[in-house]
Amino acid sequence: MARLPEAIKAYGKAHWSTYKKIYSLIKKYDRICVFRHIKPDFDAYGSQMGLVTFIKDNFPNKEVRYVGDNHVSFAGRVYPVSESLPESWFETPFLAIVCDVGEPERIADPRYAKATDIVKIDHHPCRSEITDVKVVDLDSASASEMVYDLCINWKGKKVSYQASWYFYSGIVGDTGNFKYRSTSIHTFACAEKLMETGIVISDITNCMFQKKIDDLKVTAYVLGHFNVTEHGVAYYYLPETVQTELNITSERGKDNVNLFANIEGIEAWCSFSESTKDNCWWVSIRSRKEDISQVAAKWRGGGHANASGARIFELSEMEALVKDLDDLFVKGE
Ligand code: AMP
Repeated sequence: MARLPEAIKAYGKAHWSTYKKIYSLIKKYDRICVFRHIKPDFDAYGSQMGLVTFIKDNFPNKEVRYVGDNHVSFAGRVYPVSESLPESWFETPFLAIVCDVGEPERIADPRYAKATDIVKIDHHPCRSEITDVKVVDLDSASASEMVYDLCINWKGKKVSYQASWYFYSGIVGDTGNFKYRSTSIHTFACAEKLMETGIVISDITNCMFQKKIDDLKVTAYVLGHFNVTEHGVAYYYLPETVQTELNITSERGKDNVNLFANIEGIEAWCSFSESTKDNCWWVSIRSRKEDISQVAAKWRGGGHANASGARIFELSEMEALVKDLDDLFVKGE
């Protein structure tokens, strides 16, 4: 086997005592279920399915399951549709491994709490803890590279082409294809090592970001209806009536949020998508440099410094949330 890049060796060394605990828990349990966060994105899927595939490949006799709500366009196309497991499955001892999520209420299936042991691998800030056996790195660009690091540092085990495909997709998702500030030497080291399995990166990104002609109509709508505040916050909102006209659901409302990245004078950008099913408007917030996670936390959400999510209950709250963002960019007045 080719050598590990230095950044992966160093990361593994820094987390070695936890890795050893996780390896022995994986070895110990014959029944394992891997969890991700609600409203899954590429990194949630990539870290979860990469780990599921890794364990199945290396321990063919273990029963490894994966659960969580499905994404409206990734499930069945980019990643497998989630398994629906009966209550009875969770009544026999099992190991829960929770990837890419910290807050308990954001774990896509609450039955993780029934596990005999719980492991967590994540890069989100979190207020209430679910386990002591955890690798949490708020500076990591993606959970997928953390889970991959755990796997590739396990001597004698292999990370297959398929597992690598999943891990790579998660890294691409949370780094915006290696362009966000969080992208690190470790991120690139993981990408380099993953490519040794023969994954074709253009095929993966084509599969992930494939669009339909109708999607251009959504983009056209957003470009025709966005607003920009005095201090550089761009935002758009999609009421359900508009979503219906555009033939999308609320999960797709944030698809166009990054249209406003790299625009001179725009410091932060966000989307508001109505969901009567969830009785709220989902908000996706992104920024160039400023930490917007505190504003997200104030508005019932959270996340990372430059990519967070929030919720409002009425459209009338949108103005106040946008003002909170705009206030971040008022300079010395
Ligand atoms: P989204 O805008 O939904 O794509 O979310 C952006 C990032 O913020 C993702 O990493 C999410 O996992 C995270 N995030 C979204 N909502 C929350 C929340 N309520 N609490 C913590 N993290 C969140």
